Amino acid sequence: MLIGLFTKGMTMLIFVSGSVVISYFITRFIAYLVPVPVITEIFLWSGTIVLSALLLMGVSYSYVYHGFGAQTDIVRRRPSAGNKVVFTFDDGPSKEYTPEILKVLAEKGVRATFFIVGIQAEKHPEIVKKIVDEGHEVGNHTYGHITVPNSPAPRLAAQIMRTNLVILQYSGSYPLYLRPPRGLYDMRMRRIAKLLGQELVLWSISSQDWHPRATPTSVTRRVIEKTSGGDIILFHDSGSLLGGGSASRRSTVEAMGPIIDGLRAKGLEIVSLEEFMGYPAEITRRASG
Ligand SMILES: [Zn+2]
Repeated sequence: MLIGLFTKGMTMLIFVSGSVVISYFITRFIAYLVPVPVITEIFLWSGTIVLSALLLMGVSYSYVYHGFGAQTDIVRRRPSAGNKVVFTFDDGPSKEYTPEILKVLAEKGVRATFFIVGIQAEKHPEIVKKIVDEGHEVGNHTYGHITVPNSPAPRLAAQIMRTNLVILQYSGSYPLYLRPPRGLYDMRMRRIAKLLGQELVLWSISSQDWHPRATPTSVTRRVIEKTSGGDIILFHDSGSLLGGGSASRRSTVEAMGPIIDGLRAKGLEIVSLEEFMGYPAEITRRASG
């Protein structure tokens, strides 16, 4: 706890002093290029202040969306997990693709985690039940696939709690994991997750299966090439809920078998999130997709 606070404090200090120093030299350079005879001193210091304020604003913006420093409450990957990796599927359940994916996972003996959308679960409760019956885990991906940072606090809390109840009702167990749509979270979501006893789980490898030009081969190649031990892999078992991406998940279904075989050939073991989370947390990095 103290070490975490110290690391955060040191990170902030480095960022603040770093941006002041950088801004000072940029301003000096501008003053050198454009001679400002009388007000040089004033120009130098006001320029430094304005520039560092802009830099810090930029940094705090990226802090909200990606995070820097020790955010041990947000899981993206776990290098301590050795050769173990995790499969996660977002946005379902869907009638078209989830049962087909479940079939491949059963054939290959792989346990995965499905981050489901509450409204989708209410449409297909029998698929939620099937997911759990076949040994997979279910996580919360909000009720209506909302954009977290844009949502007012009461709506955000309702979206998460309602989905927890839906999952509890259909699967019989309380979801331990929470994943914000598109990986966009903020401090409020972190606090709600803590309050509800849930962990924020992001990913370190995106299969890019949502891409309009994704093919079974491109998805397979990308995942096998990029994945190493400790990674959490993101797939989608439902068509685009965001707009922009492809509505078909045919590539995901067809790539599943080859990806499992390819990762195993690399010596990787695909485990459940529950097992994976047993490894100690460490300082997180930016998600790669
Ligand atoms: Zn999503």
